[in-house]
Amino acid sequence: MKVRLIGSSPDAPRDRHYASSYLINDRVAIDAGTLGFSGTPEEQAEVRHVFLTHSHMDHISSLPVFLENAYDPEVPAVTVHALPETMETLQRHIFNGEIWPDFIHLSPPGRPFFLPNRVRLEEPIEVEGLRVVPVAMNHIVPTAGYLVTDGRSTVAFGADSGPTERMWALMMDMPAPRSVFLECTFPDELTGLAGISAHLTPESFGVEVAKMPPETSILAVHLKHRFRDRVAEELRALGLPDLRITGGEATYEL
Ligand SMILES: [Zn+2]
Ligand SMILES: [Zn+2]
Repeated sequence: MKVRLIGSSPDAPRDRHYASSYLINDRVAIDAGTLGFSGTPEEQAEVRHVFLTHSHMDHISSLPVFLENAYDPEVPAVTVHALPETMETLQRHIFNGEIWPDFIHLSPPGRPFFLPNRVRLEEPIEVEGLRVVPVAMNHIVPTAGYLVTDGRSTVAFGADSGPTERMWALMMDMPAPRSVFLECTFPDELTGLAGISAHLTPESFGVEVAKMPPETSILAVHLKHRFRDRVAEELRALGLPDLRITGGEATYEL
């Protein structure tokens, strides 16, 4: 499975992470932090499915621009998959006629700007040769991680989350090799802040990795840039055998 982590800093896309978006096989997106700010409208229009993990701004900020760019009345609309609570938040706060036009009610008859799909936890969705399973994560707003397989490998997108269990338990039954994009937002010194905001630090990151199936490849993401060097140093000190610390724009074969 080809997974591209989309860069989010225009002047240093490989080095900084400000917002989250992933592209699977150029066709399916997980989150839309910078999806709509990257590439041409034609390239964006190749993406017909966007799975949102949660409503926080660093995960949805480019969604309105993306939907604008990808809209083509001649082809089936983009489907935006999200938890019902996330969809409700988007409708209330973004697509409300004030921040952005109400794409749902302004859609021309038969030619919607996008199709909202309210996902149900642990009910698989089949798109573009992938099986995508939404799994509840532990964050301060309703959040779904996504367990994705093409039958030959499995990639877990852990979203923003504090300590959790279910995602790693479900991953045990998925095809290997298995990889996880796992957040690590704050350094260990800020464990208190990580607790109240439901994020991980390197120490709790190590505890999560220990719950995963053996030989899982780990890609650390979502390092808050202000603390990046310290978080990276603490992560390396864990001595995990298969850990990559992502910086920004990069493509992985997983
Ligand atoms: Zn968040
Ligand atoms: Zn985030």
